[in-house]
Amino acid sequence: MTTVVYSEDLDFIKTALSMVGEKVIVVSKSEVKLGEENHVIGQEAKEEKIAEYIVGLRPELTITGSTKRDKTVAGLVAGALRVPIIPEVVELFDNKAKRIVYSGMGIAELEFTLPIVITVIKKNVEVKVNQNCKVFKADLSGTEKVRILEEKRKESGNVDLSSAQIIVSVGRGIGSKENIKYAEELANALGGTLGGSRPVTAELGWLSEDRQIGLSGQKVKPKLYIALGISGQPQHLAGIKDAKVIVAVNKDKNAPIVNNADYIIVGDAVEFCKILTEKVRNK
Ligand SMILES: Cc1cc2nc3c(=O)[nH]c(=O)nc-3n(C[C@H](O)[C@H](O)[C@H](O)COP(=O)(O)OP(=O)(O)OC[C@H]3O[C@@H](n4cnc5c(N)ncnc54)[C@H](O)[C@@H]3O)c2cc1C
Repeated sequence: MTTVVYSEDLDFIKTALSMVGEKVIVVSKSEVKLGEENHVIGQEAKEEKIAEYIVGLRPELTITGSTKRDKTVAGLVAGALRVPIIPEVVELFDNKAKRIVYSGMGIAELEFTLPIVITVIKKNVEVKVNQNCKVFKADLSGTEKVRILEEKRKESGNVDLSSAQIIVSVGRGIGSKENIKYAEELANALGGTLGGSRPVTAELGWLSEDRQIGLSGQKVKPKLYIALGISGQPQHLAGIKDAKVIVAVNKDKNAPIVNNADYIIVGDAVEFCKILTEKVRNK
């Protein structure tokens, strides 16, 4: 059986190997020496070319990570091979997969037949480099009509919210990009970190996407989580279910988050920030 593992993120590759072992072909942008064979496709390879390359390897099992680009590759491979995808898999054994369902509230066990494409949820696992791994250079860079001349990291870098002890998180109810500064001042006063809901990060761009908390963002476990103008949809709650104390500030006393919070303040999010920031600073 040919198993191909691909991700632009090394941690996803390691996660996949921890599930299926080393007898796989690892397709990666730079050399990782993992798996039996490591096919190095270059930094500039585009999703379509990567998918084409993977399909050319005739995999029965294709495993990708869950970054946006990984998922695009997974979709393209599944489409080309006309096979189903099982997303957000956390465990694989025999021909069964356990995957996250109901926005992270449950796990479903599925039985599948090959060929199939699977995307995995990242785990923190260590996998040793295979010194006997055969490395193949298959540079797909430069096969595009558009060439990337330079890549710059986002100024914000990658914010790791998973270890933050205090998170001040903003939702659409904060009102505007300009109002984010009040939440930021509160976070600074409390020695906390700023996070946000998907609309605020991925849709409105008021905060960088790496601050998104929830099902498709980061899962957090702070001692204190202050949700400012966040309605509390299941996809957001999936990211904060391990928070110790949740304080919800919402002008709607019937917002769903109210049922999931330890303390509820019915009122305006910005006013709350201003008052609490001053109180904390004057303490
Ligand atoms: C596949 C999928 C994945 C998703 N993943 C995520 C994810 O990872 N993270 C995520 O957050 N969402 C995610 N979503 C989106 C999710 O379903 C909700 O749409 C989103 O969480 C709502 O964000 P919000 O609470 O900021 O906005 P809204 O739902 O619009 O809520 C705004 C809240 O602010 C309150 N409000 C308004 N004005 C004020 C004020 N002045 N002061 C105080 N409160 C005020 C309102 O009463 C309301 O409760 C996902 C959706 C899908 C389909």
